[in-house]
Amino acid sequence: MSVNFLINQAKLIQEVIDAHALEIEKLDQEIGDGDHIFNVQRGIKLVIELEPTIKELPISKALNQIAMKVLSGIGGSSGALFGTLFMTMAKGENIDEGVDYKKAIEIFSLGVEAVKQRGKADVGEKTMMDVLIPVANCLQDGIQNNRDINEILTEAVQVAEDGMLSTKDLLATKGRASFLGERAKGHIDPGARSSQLMIKTVCESVIKK
Ligand code: ADP
Ligand code: MG
Repeated sequence: MSVNFLINQAKLIQEVIDAHALEIEKLDQEIGDGDHIFNVQRGIKLVIELEPTIKELPISKALNQIAMKVLSGIGGSSGALFGTLFMTMAKGENIDEGVDYKKAIEIFSLGVEAVKQRGKADVGEKTMMDVLIPVANCLQDGIQNNRDINEILTEAVQVAEDGMLSTKDLLATKGRASFLGERAKGHIDPGARSSQLMIKTVCESVIKK
């Protein structure tokens, strides 16, 4: 993983999120306040605009700048949560000496754990954690069992989709959707959908054909 990789991923993610913008907007209108797509699109744009500033930096510094930009530039829960993800990844041990896929999975998993602490939401509460936690677990299990990376990433895409779909029938206990009680049932969580699309994009771009 290099700074160039991060910027390229942000560009790929931008395309996919833009293609699903109306759908995600509608999801947050149904169970939130409708701004989730705006927050996500703004975050991605801010990260892509950082390219000239961060392209020559060591990965730890680049990730940290991304974190700061996301934290200061995006409103809503997603700004704080994604900011925490990148800030924690930036603190990964010895990452400036190189980040292979095992290291990338390790720091992503540490990041997800920090987001979990920050938002105090676990699996089953109808949030992006229903995607992020199972994906992090799937990636880590795959590495620990020395499985083929393409297989692990293919499984992660499926796990992300299953997690996203699982939010549909859940009651929300965290975030704005929790105010809706039973009325939140029957709607997919917007943060789960945007996270799932991002994970799918990254994994599929890395899977060697
Ligand atoms: P806001 O809810 O402040 O308007 P966004 O609309 O950008 O912020 O993001 C909403 C998404 O944030 C939700 O769909 C949910 O996935 C996620 N979310 C909300 N609260 C939490 C939390 N405590 N932990 C994890 N994710 C959360
Ligand atoms: Mg919102």
